[in-house]
Amino acid sequence: MNRFNMWRSIEAHPKAWDMLVVGGGATGVGVAIDAASRGYDVLLLEQSDFGKGTSSRSTKLAHGGVRYLEQGNIGLVMEALKERGLLLQNAPHLVHDLAFVVPNYDWWEAPFYGLGLKLYQLLAGKYGFGVSRILSKEETLEHLPTLKTEGLRGGAVYYDGQFDDARLLIHMVATAYEQGATLLNYVEVTGLTKDAQGFVEGVSARDIETGNEFRATAKVVINATGAFTDRLRLKAEPDAKPMIVPSQGIHLVFDSSFLQGESAIMVPHTSDGRVLFAIPWHGHTLVGTTDTPVATATLEPVAMEQEIEFILATAGQYLTKAPTRDDVLSVFAGIRPLVRATNVTNTAALSRDHVIHIDRSGMVTICGGKWTTYRHMAEDCVDQAATLAQLPETPCVTHHLHIHGFHEIAKEDAAKGDAAKPFGSLAVYGSDFHEIRKLIETDARLGEPLHAALPYVKAEVIWAARHEMARTVEDILARRTRALFLNARAALAMAPAVADLMASELGWDEVIRTKHLDAFFDVASNYVLHPRAPR
Ligand SMILES: Cc1cc2nc3c(=O)[nH]c(=O)nc-3n(C[C@H](O)[C@H](O)[C@H](O)COP(=O)(O)OP(=O)(O)OC[C@H]3O[C@@H](n4cnc5c(N)ncnc54)[C@H](O)[C@@H]3O)c2cc1C
Repeated sequence: MNRFNMWRSIEAHPKAWDMLVVGGGATGVGVAIDAASRGYDVLLLEQSDFGKGTSSRSTKLAHGGVRYLEQGNIGLVMEALKERGLLLQNAPHLVHDLAFVVPNYDWWEAPFYGLGLKLYQLLAGKYGFGVSRILSKEETLEHLPTLKTEGLRGGAVYYDGQFDDARLLIHMVATAYEQGATLLNYVEVTGLTKDAQGFVEGVSARDIETGNEFRATAKVVINATGAFTDRLRLKAEPDAKPMIVPSQGIHLVFDSSFLQGESAIMVPHTSDGRVLFAIPWHGHTLVGTTDTPVATATLEPVAMEQEIEFILATAGQYLTKAPTRDDVLSVFAGIRPLVRATNVTNTAALSRDHVIHIDRSGMVTICGGKWTTYRHMAEDCVDQAATLAQLPETPCVTHHLHIHGFHEIAKEDAAKGDAAKPFGSLAVYGSDFHEIRKLIETDARLGEPLHAALPYVKAEVIWAARHEMARTVEDILARRTRALFLNARAALAMAPAVADLMASELGWDEVIRTKHLDAFFDVASNYVLHPRAPR
């Protein structure tokens, strides 16, 4: 999978594509997998890197959403629980179950949450992840040794899924490619082309790397641009009413001492009625999130001061060691593409259901939903798009389609590495792990770590540039590895070595190398929490 081959496949494709997907997040790539695996001819264009938008900035939970159960949206919860189960079946190297503990401080909480979480477990049916139950105070502390004990009565445990969002997305891109789709990052769709009747028949696009412009035609164009949905819709219909309410959510990342053990904390009602998670993730502690309406979506949203303060204060109510600004290793923000509803003023109350909308111009828009439900969203979307484009009817085959890297015992396999230099952290590559190990066996220097605080080795940079379409230093540090999301200062320190490796792999000269490094330094500064200016 490389950009050169993708361009060749576009050049060798003079006729109209069956489907052209705009947007390389979970939604768009999910659509590309579904359509290509049904045998349709698919082109996907992403203006930045795959996953640059919301899909690398989630809480990383494959979940039914306990909160939606409380909101009474049983249908959404059941659908998401089923998708959670399918995701585990199809990508076992990237999804695993995780125990979540709801700590109880009032007498009524144990029966209340105990019952609700039992229902959550039952709704999963055969896709269940684990048995939920009420915990004594001692059992709660066994799960969460760093939970504050003052006033603690006990807890309730339930099970959900956890995954690495950007890594799963890259493996989904590879899956779509293996199914025959053509996918390009760094190509922006700048306009829509229409036929004499005013129906969308293709796109105009610009290669961000070269500035070259080109057109591509398709029987149907699918708008999967997440928080940017309305921008593309306005190009299709200048009077289109907005469908999206952008809502920002942030996370803070700390070292693992704040949340010891292997369980997560779920706080069902924060002071402002939201849900907050503290989760062990890649040897760190991830805490979030917020739900703050924002006026417009940007590709690199920045955490607001009040969001940071809110998470620090709430985490401090539950953890024995209250985290401070100095403890924050990384802060990242993402924008939820929530679907607009009438009579709802609070974005936390907006539905996470997905919507498929067909404009008068024939462009199909898919928006809303969740990471967890991407497969089901794609199935619905391709069903409708195929009918609209009058493509031969073929059934969806993604229920049991393995995601690239499929490996049932990836962790155990990767852990078998050289005892002095365990490869356990490479388990996320699934079956690709062996290829990366071969790189290291061929050149021992590629086994060297890029930073003492993080497990990433040089071979991962070569692998990502060669086989995963990584084009920039940021692609490597933010989405092929998760360095920027785990420890922004460490990522900044790793950047020059990453740039050197990419320069030799992709033939960059000093000017291009410096350009990529500077661009990374700019972006990374948003992930470093600076000391607050005195008031
Ligand atoms: C803080 C937060 C936490 C979340 N946690 C979870 C969770 O734990 N579990 C869960 O299931 N869901 C979660 N979600 C929801 C989930 O992350 C999103 O629903 C999902 O990632 C949306 O994917 P998408 O592909 O629709 O959008 P995006 O990932 O934003 O993808 C859209 C893409 O379109 C591209 N694009 C836009 N315009 C153009 C153009 N003109 N040309 C080419 N490309 C273009 C963008 O660059 C972008 O990459 C969370 C969301 C947030 C914000």
